[in-house]
Amino acid sequence: MSLRLDAPVTAVAEVGPKAAKALDEAFGVHTVRDLLEHYPRRYQDAGEVLDLAEVEVGEPATLIGRLVEWSPSRRTRTRRGNRPLTITEARVRQASGAVFTVTFFNQPWRNRQLRPGTVAAFSGKVERFRSELKISTPDVQVLGHAEPGEMPDAEALAHQRLLALYPATESLPSWKLAGWVEAALNELEPVGDWLPDTIRAEHGLMSLDAAIRGIHLPDDHDERHAARRRLVFDELFTLQLGLQWRRAHLESTTAGVTNPPVTGGVADRFLLSLPFAPTGAQDRAFVDLSEDLGRPWPMHRLLQGDVGSGKTLVAVWAMLCAVDNGRQAALMVPTEVLAEQHHRTLTSLLAPLGVNVLDGLRVELLTASTTTASRRRILGELLSGDVDLVVGTHALLEEGVRFADLGVVVVDEQHRFGVSQRVGLKEKRSAEADTAAGATGQVLPDVLVMTATPIPRSLALTLYGDLDVTVLDELPPGREPITTQLITPRQASRREKLYGFIREQAVQGQRAFVVCPLVEEGEIPATNAVEEYERLRKHVFPDLEVELVHGRMRPDDKESAMARFRAGQAQVLVSTTVIEVGVDIPEATIMVVEDAERFGISQLHQLRGRVGRGGGRSFCVLFAGWNAALTKDAERRLAAVAATTDGFELSETDLDIRGEGQLFGSKQSGLPDLKITRLRKDVEMVETTRAVARRVIGDDPDFEFDQHADLRREVVRRYEGGLEAFAALETG
Ligand code: ADP
Ligand code: MG
Repeated sequence: MSLRLDAPVTAVAEVGPKAAKALDEAFGVHTVRDLLEHYPRRYQDAGEVLDLAEVEVGEPATLIGRLVEWSPSRRTRTRRGNRPLTITEARVRQASGAVFTVTFFNQPWRNRQLRPGTVAAFSGKVERFRSELKISTPDVQVLGHAEPGEMPDAEALAHQRLLALYPATESLPSWKLAGWVEAALNELEPVGDWLPDTIRAEHGLMSLDAAIRGIHLPDDHDERHAARRRLVFDELFTLQLGLQWRRAHLESTTAGVTNPPVTGGVADRFLLSLPFAPTGAQDRAFVDLSEDLGRPWPMHRLLQGDVGSGKTLVAVWAMLCAVDNGRQAALMVPTEVLAEQHHRTLTSLLAPLGVNVLDGLRVELLTASTTTASRRRILGELLSGDVDLVVGTHALLEEGVRFADLGVVVVDEQHRFGVSQRVGLKEKRSAEADTAAGATGQVLPDVLVMTATPIPRSLALTLYGDLDVTVLDELPPGREPITTQLITPRQASRREKLYGFIREQAVQGQRAFVVCPLVEEGEIPATNAVEEYERLRKHVFPDLEVELVHGRMRPDDKESAMARFRAGQAQVLVSTTVIEVGVDIPEATIMVVEDAERFGISQLHQLRGRVGRGGGRSFCVLFAGWNAALTKDAERRLAAVAATTDGFELSETDLDIRGEGQLFGSKQSGLPDLKITRLRKDVEMVETTRAVARRVIGDDPDFEFDQHADLRREVVRRYEGGLEAFAALETG
């Protein structure tokens, strides 16, 4: 009873150096704590995990053993009217040496699935045949692999009513992990609790010590549920504490500017000049933003809305609020194509108010392709305050870009930017204005971040808290329905039909996108845009105009190809995902995606959002499995995309398939993954822990109270770097 959580995993007597190395390689397990945080994937409900000696014939049982060998499959002779049966049988040996037989009917593939040496739990009714016991067509739960003579100790497992099954590998089977975990728990000294008793009592949480033991060796389902609840609470509570801590810190060390809407100002006049009324969701966004913009501290708001939900309008309005308050605004987007498009949109939306005319608004575009002379002029005018609005790419972040008085920053498709880039634009205010105004500390502009990648509610709440997220959950009227079809090589003739259909549509003035995963021939077996362009142009659509756009083209070639497609001089545009975000061409009604299995759910959803923008009924065709076999996950993704166009529903499915870890983007943010929380199922706990964290930090913003010392220690332990780690999660 002297093992500590921070001890290396080799401190567990059973874990030798070789095992420790394997644990590190497979699961990143170094310490006893890591081992105990390798949580069970599920539990075998095995009130009946038994040794053969205890089995009663005719009763259901679960027997664990190592598969020794298969007998050759046999077929029963055909009786009149009956189909022949294929019988596949194996002998299985238990730790005690006892042997039993498992029999499968019409499952000849079993002998490929379960190789000799496989250790598994076989569940089913036990029968006696001659002197041998056997189970026919059992449920099989593979536990791993063992060498002859090396066997899970049935006795050690048998006393457990619930058998924990761990994420495992070939060389680290579940039963081995279970053995080490149990050994560790036997030696573990009682684990102290970092949660104050009041919080534990208030939320009916078991002690940490009981939870760590109960998650691995529960006596019953109630115990494992209670253990999980405590561990999920810990994960989410520390995260929420960190987020609130960071927020409190920001609010105490920075100052903002106020950009309240001005009655009769340009923002107002802009809305009145539109040929349509804002949607209800857009109106709600204006309300949220008015509050944020009017406050003296910096806004960090995330505007989420499906493709086509009208985010640009909201962004333009917010930018004009800066102008109404005598300040400037910047819109940063991830690609040049998008920057040019936004610049065009802005210029035409604002035309009724007068753009780049005497007394009108000054709007500029700044990208890597801006000529040196224009760039010099624009930089000068940003610094002097002559330019009101600027649209640009990363070029906005370069040295030398300084604003006279930057009031509002909008970042579109923020997930495409790295953390430092998102933060960078905020620091472009020239300090003189602030010093003149007598500000102490850093003055930050209001930041609006936009994304068309719907973030599941559970995740948004976790990371941002609902206060700072506005959702445009309503599409403007007149959106055209999109039909989505999945075409696999088994339906090869449909490819020709599709090309015929594209040709018919082209004659009527419609346009088609063809998106490929690669630019040029690459290492993976997948369609590349350059060859696909040649093929379509020469062999499929010699009668149509086909254009090509990809990221390795010169910017002006890219732009002129886009321009020809936009103007209808070309009817088919072959591209890579450069057209994924924001490209708005109403006449494009067909989206073809080659090797769709190579794309994620949100990418496919984004691509599909390029059509259905007003040009009539639209189609999205996903070719899948043509160059590579489909995995189970790929099949699920494609089926989900084909089944719904609801981005939020898709984001939930995505979260389901990918799990929470990757959604955190932890590689980028440096934050640890959630190990036991399943956000989809634990939303309620997210809300609970947020409320508690708010209360704690509200009372004690820097953990200075004695009774909060343990909380602080736990947050810093989990998030190395403490406060700094959370900077990465800022929405702005
Ligand atoms: P997002 O950026 O969210 O994908 P956009 O802002 O590009 O969407 O809007 C898509 C299209 O819908 C644009 O052509 C825009 O002019 C139009 N639009 C935006 N708001 C409305 C509205 N309230 N009513 C009608 N059309 C709208
Ligand atoms: Mg957009």
